Amino acid sequence: MTSVTSRTGRIALGGGCHAWIAGDTGWGMSNAGLITGRRASLLVDTLYDLPLTRAMLDALAPLTGAAPIATVVNTHGNGDHWFGNQLVAHAEIVAARGSVTDMRQVGPAETRALSGLDTPAGTFARRIFGRFDHTGIEPVLPSRLFDGECVLDVGGTEVRLVDVGPAHSAGDTIVHVPRARVVYTGDIVFAGATPIVWHGPFARWLAACDLLLGLDADTVVPGHGPVTTKRAVREIRDYLAFVHEQASARFTAGMPAQDAARDIRLGRFAALDESERLGVNVHTVYRELDPTLPALDGPGLFGRMADLCHAAG
Ligand SMILES: [Zn+2]
Repeated sequence: MTSVTSRTGRIALGGGCHAWIAGDTGWGMSNAGLITGRRASLLVDTLYDLPLTRAMLDALAPLTGAAPIATVVNTHGNGDHWFGNQLVAHAEIVAARGSVTDMRQVGPAETRALSGLDTPAGTFARRIFGRFDHTGIEPVLPSRLFDGECVLDVGGTEVRLVDVGPAHSAGDTIVHVPRARVVYTGDIVFAGATPIVWHGPFARWLAACDLLLGLDADTVVPGHGPVTTKRAVREIRDYLAFVHEQASARFTAGMPAQDAARDIRLGRFAALDESERLGVNVHTVYRELDPTLPALDGPGLFGRMADLCHAAG
């Protein structure tokens, strides 16, 4: 067991820190966090659509009444961590520079376009994202960018932001509250699910895991899955190292990337949800080893995963 609690919804973690844990698992069902100080609070991430974000803000209202949300941090640029920004647009929204690059590339319009495709990638996207309501979303981008590290004062509570990317995405911020010994990891940690390496390099994500393992923190709030501990960080690190090694061996043997993804046996990692993400992860390893390989666009990446689902199912 890597989870501290299997509870969902609003969870108090002590020291003014709270987690908002999605009531369901799967693609796009992301977590968030709230750090309260004197008369001000900081929200870590919004959610994938407006109804989900609104429900979360309503549930946090007993806390934010006395400590209104003055700051929002988007941990990265995937839509399930910022599409609800327009509901907190009054706050200062902070993100790492790379995260904003991702947001400009893939916003709600691109997400809707992917789900509208008449291809296996489109069918796959409709299956995993069909539960979300992507209407009415106005992209609200961060108003304050940072590079490297940034320290914020949230009503007297010190909050440290560290961009450990590019790794999962072009910019990946972890949010550490030293006094509470809590860290919000964004998608550097998936608890119980397969991590997806959209960007890489793998080495940078492995270094991020080492940084988290060395951090003065007991409680880990992952981007997806239940509240957990550093055991979940070790699990992610082991998966990434395993996939990198397996994919590299097949690259050296001359096997095409998608054949490699079909060929790799995940062993104990097969129990993680969304194992089809291996298709993207192997592609990312191959591009690291041969930068002349063409990048895949969104439909191309989702096509790789759709193919693995088909092969498995
Ligand atoms: Zn996510």
